[in-house]
Amino acid sequence: MTERAYKVYSISSGTVIDHIPTPLALRVVEILGLGNEGILTIGMGFTSKRLPEGKDIVKIENKVLTRDETDMIALIAPEATINIIEGGKVIEKRRISLPDGIRGVMRCPNPNCATNVLGAQRVFGLASPEGPLYRCRYCERTTKVEP
Ligand code: ZN
Repeated sequence: MTERAYKVYSISSGTVIDHIPTPLALRVVEILGLGNEGILTIGMGFTSKRLPEGKDIVKIENKVLTRDETDMIALIAPEATINIIEGGKVIEKRRISLPDGIRGVMRCPNPNCATNVLGAQRVFGLASPEGPLYRCRYCERTTKVEP
């Protein structure tokens, strides 16, 4: 990252999600359920050596996301990197991995599933990292997660 980009997008404390493939930043914000918790900055289409199609950056000021929260990002952007900032310095660089379980967010593809018919809470468990595939806890139907 150039010094100018760093200055423009630096925050003194919070969470920076970097290396999100363009244009998935808005999906990341959606999957994290953010939007009503202070200052959120979204930058899209930065040049990146690692991501030739360009990268997006999401910056959440004054909020440190938990590991469970940041792992949700792996569903759509497994190559994303997480920087936790405190006092203007990066205090943690976090790698993300697929969550073992997901609540909400996804919908079961089975129209007769209790989650669709009765409005039962949607809970999925990781079935395979390829895809990745998640299995509905109610009807066992698997769903492929796609950005
Ligand atoms: Zn189901």
